[in-house]
Amino acid sequence: MLGCEPLSEQRTLPRSDLPGATSYPPIKEEPPRVLIIEDDRERLEFLAASMEQEGYVTQVTDTSARLDEFSIRFQPDAVLLGMIPSRGEFYQLCGDLRTMEPLRNVPVVLVSWEEADDEQVARALLAGADDFIPCGRPLELRARMAVRLRNKRYRDALRRVRSQRDILLRQATVDPLTGILNRRPMEDAVNSLFMAGAMFGFLFLDIDHFKRVNDRYGHDAGDQVLRGIADYLKKAIRAGDFCGRFGGEEFVVLVHGADLETAERIAERHRQSIGRIRYSKIGPGTAVTVSIGVAVYDPVRPDIDPPALLRRADSALYEAKRLGRNQVVMAALARNIAESPSSDSSHGTPVISLRPSEPEHVSILCDPQPRPSAGATCASVAIELELVRKLDSGRAALPVLPTAAAEALRLAADPDANVGKLASLLDHDPHFAARFLSLANSAIYSRGIRTTTMRDAIVRIGLAAARDLLFQIVYAASTFGMPRYQEAVSRSFHRSVLSALAARSIDQAARKRYPYAYLCGLLHDIGEARVYRLLASLPQAPRDPDVVDELVARYHCRAGAELAVAWRLPSDISEVCLDHHARPDPTHYHVQVAIASDALVEVSHLRPDDPVPDALLAPIMATGFPADALPAVVESIRQAARTLDG
Ligand code: GH3
Ligand code: MG
Ligand code: MG
Repeated sequence: MLGCEPLSEQRTLPRSDLPGATSYPPIKEEPPRVLIIEDDRERLEFLAASMEQEGYVTQVTDTSARLDEFSIRFQPDAVLLGMIPSRGEFYQLCGDLRTMEPLRNVPVVLVSWEEADDEQVARALLAGADDFIPCGRPLELRARMAVRLRNKRYRDALRRVRSQRDILLRQATVDPLTGILNRRPMEDAVNSLFMAGAMFGFLFLDIDHFKRVNDRYGHDAGDQVLRGIADYLKKAIRAGDFCGRFGGEEFVVLVHGADLETAERIAERHRQSIGRIRYSKIGPGTAVTVSIGVAVYDPVRPDIDPPALLRRADSALYEAKRLGRNQVVMAALARNIAESPSSDSSHGTPVISLRPSEPEHVSILCDPQPRPSAGATCASVAIELELVRKLDSGRAALPVLPTAAAEALRLAADPDANVGKLASLLDHDPHFAARFLSLANSAIYSRGIRTTTMRDAIVRIGLAAARDLLFQIVYAASTFGMPRYQEAVSRSFHRSVLSALAARSIDQAARKRYPYAYLCGLLHDIGEARVYRLLASLPQAPRDPDVVDELVARYHCRAGAELAVAWRLPSDISEVCLDHHARPDPTHYHVQVAIASDALVEVSHLRPDDPVPDALLAPIMATGFPADALPAVVESIRQAARTLDG
């Protein structure tokens, strides 16, 4: 036995001492399958008995077998290879196993029958093995195999969750008849373009007399027409543009960067091309035409919100129908925001359900007049004046929330909110739910738990954590789509997530149990994202980082407070946004917590041995935070930062 323990020994594995033995997934699964490769009969039996004692299903073979075919048939969860380190062919075998397709994600564990030196172990691992068990350690072998199998099972579970999520996402976003995107991603795309503040064209297409097509040629022929037009649009649009089925016999095309003239030209081209499509179920003599209403979003004369843009396109489409169909009608540009009534009731109910959170009285939070800094250039003064003009309009760059997110924000402020309410709300929005589930699964993955339903996810991570995740999604959505300032916005988001965790830790350590501590940390700087969005929408969006930083620093408080009002967040949050730079010694705890959260994040950036400056310590202590809790809390923030970076 080459210096190893007697083969007959099958000691019991101390289960409770196994690393992580208590965190087996709570899902009922088949027993793991282990493929054992060993040429010596006696050793083979020993290994098989040892694995079977653990409840694994085994399959044994020797090194001369066709291992790839074997693996395809058996589908092992792990491979156990008995090896003799002094014999070079085993290293080759390790490499071969690693390259076999059916074993690509399967751990290969080596058990040595000889003493192996450092170099031999390293060689085996580098050749492709995942683990190397020295000879004479049967308990360690079984423990390591248990860990390998457990990890494999987690990875498999994660893969399953990911593929389920992808299926869910696909079902939620793709129209099954035509295979193009449906209305929901269209709404998301419009929201993103709208928030990015760049010019784009919105083309609303409606098939003419489609009911007659169905009536005369049958529903199958109607379906063929819908598929034909969708196929055409898919091929005809430029990379990066959007086409989708809005519903029924209506389609939408979004054209990035299109002014009135370009949008009209493109719409006209689509109209003519669609009219030339022929359908086998209709016959060559009959044309199917479309009417197209076109509205262009112009950041210089922006629509109040996405529904206003859609209403303009819909009115133009209506006009095209009225004028006799098979034509393109352009909508007039939006009225200036300053000219617009606060609620546009000129055209009945909104045509699609992009429901923005209507700001009720956003102008209450006015800032003093612009104060250009001493060294400001004419150009930067002009930018600042334009920025203030936009802020004064009261609505510019207020992110539109997905309905579920807006509702979740409302629920978060509702003391009666419970798991059921939150879960059913998200279940009604599969797109949002898919994003939530994927984030939730990564949050609970470390606990070895996999979940496939929203309710289950919320129960497992807890209501408070579920809300945290929701806010992260909402916040991330509000910062999406600004290529020029993307990096700065990501930094701002990253810092805000850390501030949120810091604020919660401070509140816990200070034993205040303030319900909005986390939100104060997360949202007090959300105005930064809005100012970046406003700057990005300016015709001369500034590039000079000093100018950008200065403007963001100066206006983000006001911009954030207005946003908090527009999102109907608790009044504490708008106050925190407005006041977190205003007063040197705030007396309100919610403002103290936000300021302290920033200071704590700053402290976490210091090197562990650096002294903490008083300027950072004082705001933290002002909350009632106990000094002795500082090292542990700072370490938890560092840990969170590393996780976010990873
Ligand atoms: P108009 O020129 O004014 O747009 O007239 P229209 O007949 O196209 O408009 P109307 O709204 O009266 O009728 C739309 C028709 O589209 C009725 C509906 O049965 C049909 N339709 C909606 N979805 C589908 C579908 O998925 N497949 C088929 N075959 N028909 C559909
Ligand atoms: Mg219609
Ligand atoms: Mg129609």
